[in-house]
Amino acid sequence: MTANSLGTDGRRRMPTCKTLSSAAALTAFLATVSAADRAPGFTTADLRAADTLRERALSDSTAYQLVESLTTEVGPRPAGSAGDKAAVAWAVREMQRLGFSNVRTMEVTVPHWVRGEADFAVLAPWPQSMPTLALGGSVGTVPDGVQAEAVMVKDIAALAALTPESVRGRIVFFNNRMERTRDGMGYVRGVAIRAGGPPAAAALGAVGAVIRSVGTSTDRIAHTGAMRYPADIPRIPAVAISNPDADALERQFASGKTVRLRIRSSSRELPAERSANVIGEVPGADRGSEIVLLGAHLDSWDPGVGAIDDGAGVALMMGAARLIKEIGMKPRRTIRVVLFANEEFGTSGSRAYLAASEAELSRHVIGFEADFGAGPVWRLSSRVNPAQLTAVDQIARALAPLKLARGGNQATGGADLDGLVKLGMPLLSPDLDGTHYFDVHHTLNDTLAQVDPAALRQSLAAFTVSIWLAAQYPGEWQRLTAPVPPLR
Ligand SMILES: [Zn+2]
Repeated sequence: MTANSLGTDGRRRMPTCKTLSSAAALTAFLATVSAADRAPGFTTADLRAADTLRERALSDSTAYQLVESLTTEVGPRPAGSAGDKAAVAWAVREMQRLGFSNVRTMEVTVPHWVRGEADFAVLAPWPQSMPTLALGGSVGTVPDGVQAEAVMVKDIAALAALTPESVRGRIVFFNNRMERTRDGMGYVRGVAIRAGGPPAAAALGAVGAVIRSVGTSTDRIAHTGAMRYPADIPRIPAVAISNPDADALERQFASGKTVRLRIRSSSRELPAERSANVIGEVPGADRGSEIVLLGAHLDSWDPGVGAIDDGAGVALMMGAARLIKEIGMKPRRTIRVVLFANEEFGTSGSRAYLAASEAELSRHVIGFEADFGAGPVWRLSSRVNPAQLTAVDQIARALAPLKLARGGNQATGGADLDGLVKLGMPLLSPDLDGTHYFDVHHTLNDTLAQVDPAALRQSLAAFTVSIWLAAQYPGEWQRLTAPVPPLR
């Protein structure tokens, strides 16, 4: 089927009298129809290999061993830190040990923000201190901290409804509860407050900001994450407190008495540092110039050791490529693993990759990204040209023993592949279950103890089978030229 026989919704357009003026044209049209109805299928050998890969992955401990090694031997690896550099060296070493080809680094300049120490206290009406974490990128305070009367709002819209007089000179408490969801939409809806709340408060003259963590943990642990100051806004300190402490602070406000807060932080930004994307490949055979891109990020936030974010993603991508390398059949397309630098604090690595790969962007025929925890995978979604949905159906059938749901064709991938996806690269998305992900995300609890080995193996099976079949697909993975309808 040619692209112009498809409407933007992917349905075949019926020929009109205007477009078909002769019997010859009708015959030609019918030929394209029957070709489309016989969408190229996978070979029996490829499907058998998919079964073998699935069974091997379900008993393979490579992915778990990789997360264990990364979190034990490297630990926290925020952009620009010594851990960041150690992670790059670790990834090069492990890719070589696993026998990947063309293992290399791509230099990336990354910001170097240092957390320092932070503390947070309620001074009135009922004084007490609460555990806190500075938001990534936030400025520090003078040693005595900033203290001020506080104002509580739900979110940025509620703040905007206040008069500047009621905000000026105060500390703003953003008290929005993040919703727990399986697909991560609760985070998508809640995260704007972390990134944009403190600057919005500063624009109205606030002297500090504290947010209820963008996370679902009911433990007394705060969730950090990135924020950025626009150039023309005063920089005010910004911290997060845990859900139970936010509940307690809300009760202090509910008393109707004046609430006074104090924020102290020694966060600071140091000069930019060098980091790197780490790249390794399993070279392809007859379609070797086409790239199946596997993305995850090597950096992590610093309170934990980045086991679920994104050690698990790193391990899934490396583990899947290794299983495919050892199956004894060369994949048709080249499988390229890219472990991106600094996803967390500005996606430096993916932007550098996009800039460096400008000449070969069209070779990136389909992508996978794992940046949503350690599994299990519960659904197969996609973002492909509608002409290839039949291939996705065939891949879903090969995954049937894993009992996945069939998702829609509006997958968005993660932050690192976003640039390539916006340029039309299709995606296949074995969706990781995010129900409990945000109990741990960006907290000191992001440790190996949060990785369930069985869920990780099941996820490895789902990724490996999908990646293998994407590499073997006998047809073309056509780029997306028409916009895919928004998710919701
Ligand atoms: Zn991540």
